[in-house]
Amino acid sequence: TKKKLFSISKSLNEINEIIGKQVFYSNIKMNFNYKNKDEELLIYGYENEFKQVLLNLLNNAKNKIVEKNLNTHKKGTININIQRCINYNTIEICDDAGAIEDNILSSIFEPYFTTKENGTGLGLYMAKVIIEDKMRGTISARNNENQAIFTIKLPHKKV
Ligand code: ADP
Ligand code: MG
Repeated sequence: TKKKLFSISKSLNEINEIIGKQVFYSNIKMNFNYKNKDEELLIYGYENEFKQVLLNLLNNAKNKIVEKNLNTHKKGTININIQRCINYNTIEICDDAGAIEDNILSSIFEPYFTTKENGTGLGLYMAKVIIEDKMRGTISARNNENQAIFTIKLPHKKV
């Protein structure tokens, strides 16, 4: 397939169709926050690969929340923030189920790096390959108190 311009909100709606129910029944609130409300934000790249990356990030967040809240009745939250920048559009995935341990923060994008018993350690590695090598964007992770934040920046014009 060829690179093309596609709508971020359309991708997110399709993702919501796939995992929205699972997320809801896991007692998780998923918010889509569009900073530029009356603007249709676009990305130039591969639509299916982009959706695959978002699904991976959301599954990581969901599974972490579910594990953390196993014995409580707490509600977890996933915030998806979409924002227009000058050369890029930005999508942030934030969960509130605990920061990424400081000592692994620099390793999580490496192939086969996992802290899970049955993890593959390939989700974030594949995300990096797709976003950076194939689509000329960036993906990074950081913490803000008890939140893990994954930021994707992608071009909105032909590159
Ligand atoms: P896997 O999910 O198979 O472990 P990933 O590449 O998706 O592989 O993630 C690698 C590691 O990064 C995880 O094992 C986990 O330690 C860490 N990680 C990923 N997402 C999050 C998150 N939302 N919060 C905290 N840690 C995370
Ligand atoms: Mg994963």
